[in-house]
Amino acid sequence: EMFGQLTSGLESAWNKLKGEEVLTKENIVEPMRDIRRALLEADVSLPVVRRFVQSVSDQAVGVGLVRGVKPDQQLVKIVHDELVKLMGGEVSELVFAKSAPTVILLAGLQGVGKTTVCAKLANYLKKQGKSCMLIAGDVYRPAAIDQLVILGEQVGVPVYTEGTDVKPSEIARKGLSEAKKKNIDVVIVDTAGRLQIDKGMMDELKDVKLILNPTEVLLVVDAMTGQEAAALVTTFNLEIGITGAILTKLDGDSRGGAALSVKEVSGKPIKLVGRGERMEDLEPFYPNRMAGRILGMGDVLSFVEKAQEVMRQEDAEELQKKIMSANFDFNDFLKQTRAVAKMGSMTRVIGMIPGMAKVTPGQVREAEKNLKIMEAMIEVMTPEEREKPELLAESPERRKRVAQASGKTEHQVSQLVAQLFQMRVRMKNLMGVMEGGSIPSLSN
Ligand code: GDP
Repeated sequence: EMFGQLTSGLESAWNKLKGEEVLTKENIVEPMRDIRRALLEADVSLPVVRRFVQSVSDQAVGVGLVRGVKPDQQLVKIVHDELVKLMGGEVSELVFAKSAPTVILLAGLQGVGKTTVCAKLANYLKKQGKSCMLIAGDVYRPAAIDQLVILGEQVGVPVYTEGTDVKPSEIARKGLSEAKKKNIDVVIVDTAGRLQIDKGMMDELKDVKLILNPTEVLLVVDAMTGQEAAALVTTFNLEIGITGAILTKLDGDSRGGAALSVKEVSGKPIKLVGRGERMEDLEPFYPNRMAGRILGMGDVLSFVEKAQEVMRQEDAEELQKKIMSANFDFNDFLKQTRAVAKMGSMTRVIGMIPGMAKVTPGQVREAEKNLKIMEAMIEVMTPEEREKPELLAESPERRKRVAQASGKTEHQVSQLVAQLFQMRVRMKNLMGVMEGGSIPSLSN
């Protein structure tokens, strides 16, 4: 199970919220501690963890209620979205040159899977209908060249080699002109990997880069090395300038630190990931799917998303219609109060109104109580009165009748009527519609 430990670490955070009604500053303290611990254990770098936890707590405390969605589910969703952001948001596609060939330069330390990636990438691009050529630039290890030739044959892609006696920049130059002659779409260049970063390696890469003017310079890093991978991406980017990273060995028992740290630490996206030794095991890096896998809660996520979406639509459509017509009447009032089970939507709507402070759980309960009172009064109104609140505004007798029938006071009825007109005005203001909207005074 990929990132299994991280997944179960996060799980304990959700579990601590079971039975809670809302997310509060107090009840997220423990879950946030779990999240922090889980990320650190996954080998995510500390500054990244700090920013992440801060951002998630801020959002959790301020999050509005959504009908039917529980606090632990809301936290899952917030963490998910933040993970996606952390990993760069959108998938970062490979860029192709305007005029062929596109040159992709691959760099990386020894053993990370760079040679394998060369062939995998060629295989991947070939499936997209692009012709590819590999250039064997790792002149220090004859075995690396042999391996590239074998893998090239395996995926049916030509490999350009000059053996080990020619300078890598020279091989690159010759290989590129060969590719141009053959109208190759994409040239993938393997370079020497060392056991660790040294000046010779960087200088050589700079030379090769200068000669090739590549569209992509990708650093291959091993997911098993955790946040060290992110540090490497940063160093290579500063030294030679790279366009992104390829993360290998995600199929192993890596803990997630690399996947989660690379973008945030280095500013460079992970473009592709290797998930096995077969030639097919290379795919684009989808932050969205990765976050989903880490959380292992696809169902909860889509549920929360749907609930939010439904509510956005209902709120937006209903409100907009009413606001446009400025005919918001007691029927709408009632529909709103009933349809929304209940406070989620109201808090959101109230929160949308400029100048209204964030709503606390206490205020929510208070508002809920008030809604029940209003509902009782609206229920005893005649259909005509519901549609034309003016009737009640103009007639003390009608208000008296409503009060008696609903068991409320005349004052409460008057308040309700006034409130409806205030609401109309507020909605109009909200939309910037300035005409009309005066509050009729109640005649006695
Ligand atoms: P290089 O030294 O960077 O060129 O690394 P190689 O391409 O020779 O790969 C080193 C080892 O890692 C080989 O045994 C590969 O089969 C293995 N390897 C490469 N990529 C992956 C991967 O995504 N998953 C797994 N499990 N093994 C990989």
